[in-house]
Amino acid sequence: MEGCTFNQAKDMVKRLVIEKGFPHDESALLQKLLWAFVELGEAADAYKKGEDWNVVNEELIDVIFYILDFMGLVEDTQGVEVDVDKLFLDKWERNMRRPERYGQKRNI
Ligand SMILES: [Mg+2]
Repeated sequence: MEGCTFNQAKDMVKRLVIEKGFPHDESALLQKLLWAFVELGEAADAYKKGEDWNVVNEELIDVIFYILDFMGLVEDTQGVEVDVDKLFLDKWERNMRRPERYGQKRNI
């Protein structure tokens, strides 16, 4: 399969969620965000345990799945279009215009 845009990935995740019978209604919004945290924790745990990079990265993809799931659900339940590609590009351009080490005053 060729690569895909964020928006295509969002639609693919939406299809997966619906086809596999996962919740896709307004009451599921919060749990999508919570599962994204859980998957991020799984990535941190896999890293801590020295797991193969493929394992760590797959957990990070799970995070992205849940974020896209959330955004698709916002779209379907809140009546707003979520253009993930535009959000990413706009944010990237905004950050590129910011000063060096923006938002980081202390050395950590
Ligand atoms: Mg996982």
